[in-house]
Amino acid sequence: KEKLSKSREGFFGKVKGFFLGRSVIDDEMYEDLEEMLIQSDIGMDMTLKIVGALEKEVRSRGIKDPKEVYGVLKDVMENFLIEEENELKTEKPGLNVILVVGVNGVGKTTTIGKIASKLTKEGKKVIVGAGDTFRAAAIEQLEEWTIRAGAEIIKHQQGTDPGAVVFDTLKAAENRNADVAIIDTAGRLHNKNNLMKELEKINRIIEKHVGDSSYESILVIDGTTGQNGLNQAKVFNEVTKLTGFIVTKLDGTAKGGIVFAISEELKKPIKFIGVGEGIEDLRPFKPKEYIDAIFE
Ligand code: GDP
Repeated sequence: KEKLSKSREGFFGKVKGFFLGRSVIDDEMYEDLEEMLIQSDIGMDMTLKIVGALEKEVRSRGIKDPKEVYGVLKDVMENFLIEEENELKTEKPGLNVILVVGVNGVGKTTTIGKIASKLTKEGKKVIVGAGDTFRAAAIEQLEEWTIRAGAEIIKHQQGTDPGAVVFDTLKAAENRNADVAIIDTAGRLHNKNNLMKELEKINRIIEKHVGDSSYESILVIDGTTGQNGLNQAKVFNEVTKLTGFIVTKLDGTAKGGIVFAISEELKKPIKFIGVGEGIEDLRPFKPKEYIDAIFE
């Protein structure tokens, strides 16, 4: 909760005061609320849905005092966050695969380190595949995080075919009886076609190896980039099959609204949130806890 204090002190903390300062529930109140929500990165569509649902709920509960609307808003917003299946699937007997995609700089490497660390702490054997072969620095950084996490890395030289890295990672994971293989990918978004082809190839290799399509494909999104992050997510959602999201850097933003936009627009669960640069700074995403943390 303390990690999300920026969001709380920023936008969301003001919401309570907003309602306390009102004497009547009228159109102006809803319009002002709309403006506030849009500014917190929730996005226009989601804001309209939230305010629409709020009005309906306030009417049906017969609420007349603006102070009571605050609690209803929290309930309504919580309802918009998808909760089912927001755990990473890593309990299957045999090898569990987690493919991690996302644009450079969003915190992909750090997040892989955090996940690897969490899983090794649970007693799992974890192998990380350095599938971002485009940048030498990416391979080195990933290796550092992997060592810190107590996991093993499979890497090739810069410039080699990512497909080969994926193949070797899965083979090594099987030979060493690993429980989980986490696969990094390159984060270049400038060419949608290339991105699609590369991810398609990687998906094929994984599917062939695990025998079906029951693996995680996680998009990492920078929570400080607002609608930009949402647009990135839409592109990835089009070019590859995703099973969920991890939203990073939520400790660094005064606007946590992006999680609502993501849940609603992409209809897939947020599995974890990143709340700092340390290896422990990864939290399961629990809608109720999140709402409580950002609002009060
Ligand atoms: P990549 O290029 O996507 O692999 O990004 P990196 O993992 O290298 O992270 C980019 C920067 O974001 C680094 O300075 C990280 O320390 C920072 N970062 C990653 N996740 C978080 C987070 O949850 N909170 C904060 N405050 N910083 C983060």
